[in-house]
Amino acid sequence: MSDELRNAIVAQARSLFDRGLSPGTSGNISARTYDGYLMTPTGSSFDALEPDRISQLDAAGRHVDGDPPTNESPLHLAMYEQRPDARAIVHLHSTYAVAVACLADVDPNDVLPPLTPYYVMQVGRLPLVPYARPGDEALADAVRARAVDSHALLLANHGPIVAGPSIVDAACAIEEIEETAKLVLLLRGAPTRLLTREQLAQLRTST
Ligand SMILES: [Zn+2]
Repeated sequence: MSDELRNAIVAQARSLFDRGLSPGTSGNISARTYDGYLMTPTGSSFDALEPDRISQLDAAGRHVDGDPPTNESPLHLAMYEQRPDARAIVHLHSTYAVAVACLADVDPNDVLPPLTPYYVMQVGRLPLVPYARPGDEALADAVRARAVDSHALLLANHGPIVAGPSIVDAACAIEEIEETAKLVLLLRGAPTRLLTREQLAQLRTST
């Protein structure tokens, strides 16, 4: 089980890196285990993770084995705390989502508009978390406050973080955020047809 999860983290990280979604040593992935969490190590690059060196944390979030965890581990722990059903979390500094996270004129309750059905089904709503320095407890507190109502959040001037029922689900949802952010920037200034209220209701009842 734990070996399978370790391999799944490594495979997903490699896939995100290969597609340019985790530049440098940015981004982190975690998974809930029966007695704690697995997390990508601090300073690690998504193209060079080793299953045996993945950080292991106990249920209280203390580092117990492997390399030291990402310094963004408080963000993951804050989200797991509020979302008991979450089995995995992916956080990225992917270019288009970060670009939207830097825009001054977004709706902080829901940053991205409903452009496509798959975005609506996999993400739904994307609240903006006010900026705080990475690693600061204030950022984890802000995530904790908003994660109650949404499994997907956009950290202002930083990047998206998504919880899901599996590593693949969380990764697919965060990629929908990245692609929708790209569409929003491509369409900026162009008259745009959003999904209607009826179309949104239809999607929500079919999921
Ligand atoms: Zn980050």
